[in-house]
Amino acid sequence: MRSVRKLSFALLLYLISAVPAQSRPVPTALFRFRNGFWINLHHFLYAEALAGSTSANARWISTAQAAVRQAPCGAFASADAEQNWKKAVQFYSSNYASRDMLFDRDFANINDVLGDAGDVQALPATLPRDLKRELEAAAPAYRQSCWPNHRRLNEAWIHLLEPLLATHGQEIARRLTTVFNTAWPAQPIAVDVVTYADWAGAYTISSPPHTTVGSVGDDKGDAQLEIIFHEALHTMDEGMDRDLSTAFAKYHSEMPQGFAQALIFFTAGFVTQEQLHATDPNFQPYAYKHGMYKRIPYWDQDEMALRKYWQSYLEGQEQRQAAMDHLAHAICCS
Ligand SMILES: [Zn+2]
Repeated sequence: MRSVRKLSFALLLYLISAVPAQSRPVPTALFRFRNGFWINLHHFLYAEALAGSTSANARWISTAQAAVRQAPCGAFASADAEQNWKKAVQFYSSNYASRDMLFDRDFANINDVLGDAGDVQALPATLPRDLKRELEAAAPAYRQSCWPNHRRLNEAWIHLLEPLLATHGQEIARRLTTVFNTAWPAQPIAVDVVTYADWAGAYTISSPPHTTVGSVGDDKGDAQLEIIFHEALHTMDEGMDRDLSTAFAKYHSEMPQGFAQALIFFTAGFVTQEQLHATDPNFQPYAYKHGMYKRIPYWDQDEMALRKYWQSYLEGQEQRQAAMDHLAHAICCS
């Protein structure tokens, strides 16, 4: 549920030439789901390393342990296979378990390469050489003992979401792009489905748009709709961040870290709930369901301000600019 932006020249050009959102139709294909071997192997080795860690962040460890439990592997076919697997887990423990899938630039590049690699025989040479060696050595063990089950779990996640997207996707996408005053990315957003993404359940790198999402959590069905559109917002929040920062600057203040994330949680949750009111009246947005506004420092205040001022905008009772000015004032100065 997090994102990072890699600013590129192409992105800058795109931003400069951006046409107001209202004039752009929402494309028919919003997402491009992938269930790829290499990116799954990479994330599961990361999960195994974290699950066995004694020094990583407690939340990282507990989420990884849960995923490993929910996505079990079968027995290894041979002692050699087991040894290769253990060696690769050890490699991840030493090199990657303390690193963040999202904010680590190397990880982001590795993720793009492995996502695009699908199930090719040999991995591209653009990967770090030692990583490529460990992945290729662990691949037969993973393919034999884990992949059939993992592939099935990912497939089930995709199959649950697809009909919901067919029913609700266009309307939610239209609403969100209008609210954010932006356009849907030119190409469908690449979504890699893996058993364990990271401690947050999903993460997104915005340039090029690339989401990685975990398939074994408890948030299934309609909850997936919110998750996938929440992630999509991270690929198109540049203008929103800029406008919010401008609103805070009017009060000689800076937007607090984490506020834009709270706004994305609130907006994706609100719009999904609104869309589902007839078919799932008990739908509870993710941040409420998981107690995030209570758990994360300052988010209780953020939620109060969002409910008071941002919701009025979402309901069409307030202009966007006025809502942002009210929000900024409530957060910085009241
Ligand atoms: Zn997020």
